[in-house]
Amino acid sequence: MTAYLFTGGQFLDVKTKKMVEGVEVLIEDGIVRDVSNKPITASSAQRIDLRGKTLMPGLVDAHVHVVATLVDLAANAELPSSLVALRTSKIMNGMLMRGFTTVRDLAGADLGLKLAVEEGLIDGPRLVICGKALGQTGGHTDYRTRFDNRPLHEASLGALGRICNGIDEVRRGAREEIRNGADFIKIMANGGVASPTDPIHVLQYSREEIIAIVEEANNVGTYVSAHVYTDAAIRRAVECGVHSLEHCNLIEKETAELAAKSGAIACPTLAAYEGLAMEGEAFGLKPDSVAKIETVRVGGLRSLEILRDAGVPMAYGSDLLGQLHHYQSIEFSTRNKVLPAADIIQSATLISAKLCRLEGQIGELSPGAFADLLVVDGNPLDDISVLEQHDKLTAIMKGGRFYKNELAA
Ligand code: ZN
Ligand code: ZN
Repeated sequence: MTAYLFTGGQFLDVKTKKMVEGVEVLIEDGIVRDVSNKPITASSAQRIDLRGKTLMPGLVDAHVHVVATLVDLAANAELPSSLVALRTSKIMNGMLMRGFTTVRDLAGADLGLKLAVEEGLIDGPRLVICGKALGQTGGHTDYRTRFDNRPLHEASLGALGRICNGIDEVRRGAREEIRNGADFIKIMANGGVASPTDPIHVLQYSREEIIAIVEEANNVGTYVSAHVYTDAAIRRAVECGVHSLEHCNLIEKETAELAAKSGAIACPTLAAYEGLAMEGEAFGLKPDSVAKIETVRVGGLRSLEILRDAGVPMAYGSDLLGQLHHYQSIEFSTRNKVLPAADIIQSATLISAKLCRLEGQIGELSPGAFADLLVVDGNPLDDISVLEQHDKLTAIMKGGRFYKNELAA
């Protein structure tokens, strides 16, 4: 593979949150070989002059649903798996072209998609998967209306979840997902927007079921992520050993402090509610679901302040469905209403890398890491909106290969 020496631009050091001049970065065999503030000698490497531009790590979105090809998840589950897979490859390519070189999928993506990326069949981001999310009957993976008692289309690729009830079934569900290649386990522990019969406030799964799933995940050295909005649901999840707390819109101070103490990581997903509020109904979101959006949307910005003050690390999440995926980057400006750009950039790099269990390999440009990087026309620390203006992403590299390169040769 070609070697590249990036030189002459500004280097965004995500660890120190500073822009540094005069840093050179050598890429060899898909890996960052050297990063130095002195000139690097590499006579065989292709020199790339970055004058006036910023070099930074590729972004990591820690909450996506790549197989959600429709906003209407019930309809999505009824699509042929082949169609879902082909649409998914386009959705994933869109993510990569928005600068996300790794995504953590929070329900739906399977090992086949992950292998397809590794084989180069899909020009998409690295994929970290949980397989199907575990949910209870009437919970957030149960998309049936009250009048529909037919079984769910759980075997199809377009089904984001599977229903399991009781200790034995949840253990089996977790073990099957792990056997099928899940990197972590996802559970639905609270009501949700996209499911029709569960109001936001309801708790889902018993403590005993959650504890059993956490034990299964911990037995194989991984963790549980839970879909949670309300303070009560988040507190219970933390007490049961859940590590990755999705959404967290309605969290309060004491629970946030407990989460911080337990070492949990939160993954707010404000882009989802902005996107659903703007266009969800137009793309088939049902009235029951539309009515729930505001409940979680209003708490979003306040939850960021509570999590920050309590010291809970926050990953970057977008959680968009179907036709709304193009809003993936508005999470940056939405969070920037209350958080500084540098902190949001850390969320979309170092902290999301932790949830992917790929610390040191993604989300930073240091020796030994994957050569996943962006060249940005602008300074994201001064103006984070440059990360939303995709024409300002002059180059996108993943694993040492350019997927976009508009730098002058
Ligand atoms: Zn969720
Ligand atoms: Zn989600």
